[in-house]
Parts: sequence; C-alpha cells; structure tokens
Amino acid sequence: MQMHPTSCEHAPTAPLASAPSAGSGCPVPHGAVETLHFDAVVVGGGIAGSTTAAALADRGFKVLICEAGLPSKKRLAGELLHPPGAAELDALGLLEPLKAAGGVPVYGFAIFKNAADPGTVLSYSEIPGGRPIGIALEHAVLTRTLLDATRARPNITVWEGGRVLGATPSVVGSPSMVAVRMGESVRHVTARLIVSAEGRASKLREEAGIQTHDEAPFRMVGWAIEGARLPLPSYGHVFIGGPTPILAYQVSKDSVRIMFELGMDESTEIGPELLAALPEPFRRDVIRGMANSPKATARFQGFRPERVVANNLAVVGDAGGCVHPLIASGMSFCIADGVRLAASLKDPATPLTEGLQSYEMARSGPMRTRSALGPAMVEALCSKEPSMRLLRHGLFRYWSGSPRGRGASMGLLSTREDSMVVMAREYAIVCAHALVGVGTGAVARREAIPAIRGLVQRTAELAKGVMPSREELEARALGALGRVGARR
Ligand SMILES: Cc1cc2nc3c(=O)[nH]c(=O)nc-3n(C[C@H](O)[C@H](O)[C@H](O)COP(=O)(O)OP(=O)(O)OC[C@H]3O[C@@H](n4cnc5c(N)ncnc54)[C@H](O)[C@@H]3O)c2cc1C
Repeated sequence: MQMHPTSCEHAPTAPLASAPSAGSGCPVPHGAVETLHFDAVVVGGGIAGSTTAAALADRGFKVLICEAGLPSKKRLAGELLHPPGAAELDALGLLEPLKAAGGVPVYGFAIFKNAADPGTVLSYSEIPGGRPIGIALEHAVLTRTLLDATRARPNITVWEGGRVLGATPSVVGSPSMVAVRMGESVRHVTARLIVSAEGRASKLREEAGIQTHDEAPFRMVGWAIEGARLPLPSYGHVFIGGPTPILAYQVSKDSVRIMFELGMDESTEIGPELLAALPEPFRRDVIRGMANSPKATARFQGFRPERVVANNLAVVGDAGGCVHPLIASGMSFCIADGVRLAASLKDPATPLTEGLQSYEMARSGPMRTRSALGPAMVEALCSKEPSMRLLRHGLFRYWSGSPRGRGASMGLLSTREDSMVVMAREYAIVCAHALVGVGTGAVARREAIPAIRGLVQRTAELAKGVMPSREELEARALGALGRVGARR
C-alpha cells in the first residue's frame, strides 16, 4: 500500500485521548500513537469518491480514499454515462481507462411507446454545444477501473478494505480525526476536509445531522444478456408500454443490460405483462437470457438532503441525493460534484469555510432541477393518470416536430442543462402541446376536465420548485455574510 503522508507523519501527535469523541462515532485511541495527516479523507471509492479524489489531487490536495469493498457484479447500479459526465472524466484523464476496459459509445436514447413502435430517437448530437457521445460499461468494471486509475495518480493513497468508522467534528479549524477499520486493526488519520462519498446510506451525513426528504422505495431487477438484439444498438432504450418502465442498453460489445422496475412487495419473476412491452426479436433474446444469466437486484429510494455541507464535511454523489434511474443522471452528477467541490475549494492553502459554502451553492440549483426532473419525467412517460397521458401526448408531439425541443429535453436529461427556469419553460411548452391533444384520442372527452385540472396542479407544484428552498436561501445569506466578513 502506497502512502503520501504530509507533515504530521513523523511528528508526535497530541495526546489523542483529548480529541473530541462525543457523538462522533469515531473511536479515539488511547496513549501516544503516530497519526498520518492528509488534506482530505474521501470516504467511499465509488464513482463519486474516485472522481472527487482525482479532482482534489489535481489541485494539490493530499488525499486518502477509504473504500470498504467495491460492489460485485450482483449489484445493479449505474452503467450508462451521459456525455457531460464523460467529458468531465476526460478532463480528469479518467475516460481513456474506461474505454480501454471495454466501454462502449452511447449516442442518445430511444423511447418505445409499445412493442410495435419504431421508437422516438433523442440524440445527444441535438444538444446545443458539448460532445455528443456518452459511454457505458458494467458497473463493477467501471468502479474498479476508476479506482485503479485514480490510485495510480500522485497525491492519492487508497486504503482498500478500509471502512471508516467515524470522524470527530473539526473544532475551530483543527483537523478531524478519522478512524478506519482495516481487517482486525483500527487506524487513525487526521484531515482538514472529510468527504462523504459513501452512497445513499451515508453514515457521516446522518451523524452530521443532515435531514433528508425521502421518496417511496422500489426495486430494480436486471440481467446482462449476451448477444441480445436491441432495436438501436449504441442507444439507451426506454420501453414504456407495460405497467412500469423497462431500461436497456449495451454494456459491452456483446452484452445488453435490461432492468425492470418492481414494487417492494412484488416477486422478482418477470411476467408476460412486463415482457409484452418489448419488441421482437429482442423479447425472445431477453426471455432466453433471463433463464441463463444471473439476476442482479437493487433497492432504490430517491431522496434529497436539506444541505450537503456541515462543518468540515462535504457530501458528494449519491450520499447527497438520488433520483429515479430512468433519467440515468446519477453518475454524471457524481462526477460533477467532484469537479464542483475541487473548484470551490481551489487549493489546500485556502480556508475551507468559504469554499464549502461555494460548493453548497454551486450544487443546490442543479440538484433542485434534477430532483424535479426525475419524477416529472417518470410520471410523464409512465403514469396512467389522464393528466399524465395528456402530457405524454404533448411530449411526443413536441419531440416529433421540433429538433430544438428534442435537444432541450436531452440537455436537461443528460445534466448538460441544469437550470430550473429552463426546465419550467420546457414543461410549459410541453403542456401547450398537450392541450392540443384534448379530444384527439390522447384522453377521452369525458376525461378532459380532470386531465387539464391535474396538469394545472402538477405545473403549479413544479413552478413552486423554481424558487430556491429556505435552506438554499440561508446558505446563500451565510455565504454572503462570510464573504463580507473575509473582506473586512
Ligand atoms: C438500478 C440502478 C440503475 C442506475 N442506472 C444509472 C445509469 O444508467 N446512469 C447513471 O448515471 N446512474 C445510474 N444509477 C445511479 C448510479 O448508480 C449512482 O448515482 C452511482 O453509483 C453513485 O455513486 P457513489 O460513488 O455516489 O455511491 P456508491 O456507488 O454507492 O459508492 C459508495 C462507496 O462507498 C463505500 N463506502 C460506504 N460506506 C463506507 C465507509 N464507511 N467506509 C469506506 N467505504 C464506504 C461503498 O463500499 C461504496 O463502494 C443507477 C442506480 C441504480 C440503483
């Protein structure tokens, strides 16, 4: 194991028993022990952890990544990365390793209303500016490749198999002490900055008292199927003709991932009513593949935290909120978080407080847009409610007639565009297209009034989201106060 300790490595530390421990969850060692010091400890070496560590190290931070154990192939998680995420990985020098590990190009999405539909294609190339190609590969290969590529860089130490047990809160600018279990022993390090990249179930976020707004949980079940014939290879596929959406895309030259959404109490057996949404010959390939390949599952629960900064803790990636996998924005957001955090902190010599507040502010708008977009998209594509059937009609009408509309939707879905105002504008345009559908078969005449009412109510709810939350306004006010204080 390679180490890049800074000045504290050879200095005898203060008696550790005097370090704060109450409520921190961090066991404090007794007696004088030599403690390593890093500028930042990144807890979790998944996509968010690896990319945040790489971005911080590029700015001169000496970083320790602690990764308890990367996921196996049985874990169902992100595999399709939109172009903005791929571009940011490229800038960090981490895209080439993914290509070398077998990553396949992705050119956009195609949505299939039923098994006979040829599909509505939404290409990345229609997004104004930016690169038009994403990348996909199996999650376990992706995380392993990123962590190994990050480990090889200067300023980065990785403790694989290292589970962080807790971190003491930093008191008046002093570093935190972090306890890491490695096998049978517990090691201690100090760091000025602690980054929680622990995923959804972040303990450090919880210990810092950060509240979350949680959605209802559901399950995803999936298979990687060799040789399955997707209608449009190199595109993400969304099949919406069944009771819940089905996602499918290539994860290697020869293999296709398919994922079904199921309720928490539903059996993970895939019945004919779900499969009926798939076109032939893909459906046949899926039935064959499900019988011959192992099943992967995931419990999913969308949530939004009230903030992502507490004292010297910064929360990144899924630990800072997640949104329905249908929009495949999780990994792009993880990578953007790493880049945002490093850009806000500037370098290891700059005081943390102002940088962390900048991070909070830089992230809150994009997270608000993403949290609104995910559920809105899932409802618009999949809900059987009259208002949403009407909206769906408007969405497809907009997409079929307007390359600009397709580009705007893909800009939002891919995270290239993260403005809530743009999202609200696009929603209003889709609503206008939807109203034309009244009486044309999208909704029956007798459903027209409840459909329009439902649409108005949903639009009003969304419009509320355009306003920053109380927490966001508070963070902005505190940030402004901090900047005034610093100038004096
Ligand atoms: C079914 C499904 C499909 C998805 N599809 C897509 C998609 O196509 N595209 C997309 O962009 N996103 C997708 N996502 C979302 C994507 O998977 C996540 O956004 C992404 O994996 C989050 O990465 P992360 O690094 O934040 O968290 P995680 O991947 O959860 O990684 C956290 C890491 O922290 C480690 N850890 C936790 N606690 C500790 C500790 N105390 N000490 C040390 N290590 C610790 C864990 O071992 C883990 O490796 C999907 C998600 C699901 C569930």
